[in-house]
Amino acid sequence: MSTGMGATDRQAEIDAEALRRKYREERDRRLRADGEAQYVEMAGKLARFAEEDPYIETVIERAPSTEEVEVVIIGGGFSGMLAAARLREAGIKDIRIIEAGGDFGGTWYWNRYPGAQCDIDAYCYLPLLEELGYMPKEKYSYVTEIFEHCQRIGNAYGLYDITWFQTRVHALNWDEDIKRWRISTNRGDDIKARFVVTALGTASRAKLPGIPGIEDFEGHSFHTSRWDYDYTGGDTNGNLHKLADKRVAIIGTGATAIQAVPHLAASAGELFVFQRTPSSVDYRGNKPTDPEWVKSLQPGWQRERRQNFGDIVMGRPFSQDLVNDAWTDIFRNLVAVGVTNLMQGMDPAKVAEMAEMADFQKMNQIRARVDETVQNVEAAEALKPWYRQFCKRPTFNDHFLEAFNRPNVTLVDTSPSKGVQRLTKTGVVANDIEYPVDCVIFSTGFEISTAFKRRIGFEINGRGGQSLFDYWADGFKTLHGHSSNGFPNWFYIGISQNALSVNMTAMFDDQAQHIAYIIAQVKARGATTVEPTVPAQQEWIATIRKLSVSNEAFLNACTPGYYNNEGSTGGGLTGEIYAPGINAFNDLLAEWRAQGDMAGLHLG
Ligand code: NDP
Repeated sequence: MSTGMGATDRQAEIDAEALRRKYREERDRRLRADGEAQYVEMAGKLARFAEEDPYIETVIERAPSTEEVEVVIIGGGFSGMLAAARLREAGIKDIRIIEAGGDFGGTWYWNRYPGAQCDIDAYCYLPLLEELGYMPKEKYSYVTEIFEHCQRIGNAYGLYDITWFQTRVHALNWDEDIKRWRISTNRGDDIKARFVVTALGTASRAKLPGIPGIEDFEGHSFHTSRWDYDYTGGDTNGNLHKLADKRVAIIGTGATAIQAVPHLAASAGELFVFQRTPSSVDYRGNKPTDPEWVKSLQPGWQRERRQNFGDIVMGRPFSQDLVNDAWTDIFRNLVAVGVTNLMQGMDPAKVAEMAEMADFQKMNQIRARVDETVQNVEAAEALKPWYRQFCKRPTFNDHFLEAFNRPNVTLVDTSPSKGVQRLTKTGVVANDIEYPVDCVIFSTGFEISTAFKRRIGFEINGRGGQSLFDYWADGFKTLHGHSSNGFPNWFYIGISQNALSVNMTAMFDDQAQHIAYIIAQVKARGATTVEPTVPAQQEWIATIRKLSVSNEAFLNACTPGYYNNEGSTGGGLTGEIYAPGINAFNDLLAEWRAQGDMAGLHLG
């Protein structure tokens, strides 16, 4: 098996102009006039793809509620659980969590596809390890362990008693007369909450390609976030034995498909992988946790490790790489070098050129790995990504490329027709060729960078009935990303005008702790409401924009994807973040708390 790592040594001659030309050509082949609009929401006739929960054993019966509660948290994934845990630590007990799934876990509840694994170092990713005395079994945890950890948090913090599962929020409306949020749900609830924390994660709503025929297909079909094990057999470890006599199509080759394809390939009678843009598939190298290393850990180790990871990915100085994996390798070589040189006053144009050369080398290594692994020359050519590393989310897997050496696996490169064109009653059409199949699995991703309203999926109306989505129509308006003027006592955990980290759970935890602090302070100070003042909000927006390093040119040169709004404009997912990074942002918030004056917040 190829490691891919060794390929760094073979730094072939780089013809920068030829690579730039090739990248442009490959991008242009994929650009579509409809951009983000090519995807459809799982609503109306397509709602079944999202609403059916294949994992619940019993549908919970309960009467509609009109309860009053101090804090409602929407979402029982890591961010919602962390919000509840941190609020409890801050002395706030009267909490209600509302969760659509049948248990905790959020993305790890829904995404139980075979091979599902977190590709971030588990010792950084799984929260509250020290608090709960738990140590992950391996460097990269699989979904079962992550889901169990969610349940561990739920039990340890007493969250099961305060959670309504199988409940979807329909709308949040601020009631100025009673200074409470009113929350309606699909269960007919009308809950009154003093504070609301919206904690939906970044990939809570799946999406489908807007191609004709999805409803007409007469075989079996589902999205990867609703894996149908009744149909496939097996479990998250694979062994999908019921597919042995089936022709299966999987559409998409993003981070999800990279993990699921090896299992489908091992079990399906025939597998057709419909790829539009190849992913960058780097070396994984999972390994069991070393008990000797565990014994060496000192209290505070997890925070230290997360900070170390945060420093490395933002190019801040660090003395050693504690995580030391393919992520930190990429960031050390592509980001840190650039940031350090800029800080040392090197000409930005020179730095950009160096970063581009390092990127070419990295991607050459990724492409060399394809050649080393995939025997079929045509398939190998199609599997090579021709774009810069951070145009799309990097992926890591040691079995995906190997799957294409199996005789039952066919790669269908759909780039000539800019993706799958349609479904018929019996198959999938790409490049005007129909592939008859029994089952279609949509691995087509989530509402991550589509319109904010689509990502949230329910109404949020503040003072005077003002819609949050209208108020934010031309961009986020927040203080520190967590709250917005006109939406009293409402808090948001996610990617807004805050710092982004690929280690999302750490980022969510930091945000949760800050919000818990604010809510506790509002109560301690005897106030009823809290919201940012308009000047503070404007100042924060100005700060974000002043510090931002334009990545528009970079993103515009990228192949389309959710990082660049499907190629329509610059900005995209990373358009409004605090550029100095997660650790600098946390320092800023810590300083804000230490000042003790709740600067920029109006307490009413
Ligand atoms: P993605 O959005 O990354 O991938 C969607 C895939 O569907 C792409 O390959 C896309 O092609 C393809 N696609 C869309 N429309 C069509 C079409 N009409 N025809 C053919 N192909 C099409 O979704 P994923 O679920 O893979 O991943 C989403 C995110 O979830 C990841 O980026 C990551 O952040 C997270 N994740 C994290 C994991 C972890 O280990 N921590 C594991 C799995 C997911 P194209 O690229 O051309 O648009």
